[in-house]
Amino acid sequence: MKDESCIFCKIANGEIPSSTIYEDENFRVILDLGPASRGHALILPKEHFADVCALPDGWAAKVLPLGAKIGAAMKKALGCTGFNLVQNNGVSAGQTVFHFHMHVIPRYDGALSIVSWEPGKASPEELAELAKEIKDAL
Ligand code: AMP
Ligand code: ZN
Repeated sequence: MKDESCIFCKIANGEIPSSTIYEDENFRVILDLGPASRGHALILPKEHFADVCALPDGWAAKVLPLGAKIGAAMKKALGCTGFNLVQNNGVSAGQTVFHFHMHVIPRYDGALSIVSWEPGKASPEELAELAKEIKDAL
């Protein structure tokens, strides 16, 4: 299913041109217009799913192997020594385009960290309580 008002539906299906690095019957992988690093790519399903919660299992199962394949190619082609697979869900998580996508971000030696945080503190009691709350919602 496509969403007529969704730019990533149009890009994924070739209605809007993009710098495509990979395509198969289900996915198109393009270069990000606002790259976090040289070669930053986006894996786009050709059907519209708003986020990972809407992505059917069969589609989801294909995304991680594709991310690994693209990341491995980046290491060969670009000289990056690693890559981040990043996937934002919801405004609070930084999602700005509401068509599922996985970022593949090449990482180069000496560059600043992109995906990092200051570790907080949590007591065993807090962790146990949190774990129960989440488990009960599964
Ligand atoms: P997110 O913040 O996870 O929703 O990521 C959206 C990403 O899409 C950002 O990194 C944008 O730079 C990128 N982006 C938005 N529009 C386009 C476009 N037309 N072509 C390529 N990348 C895009
Ligand atoms: Zn879409």
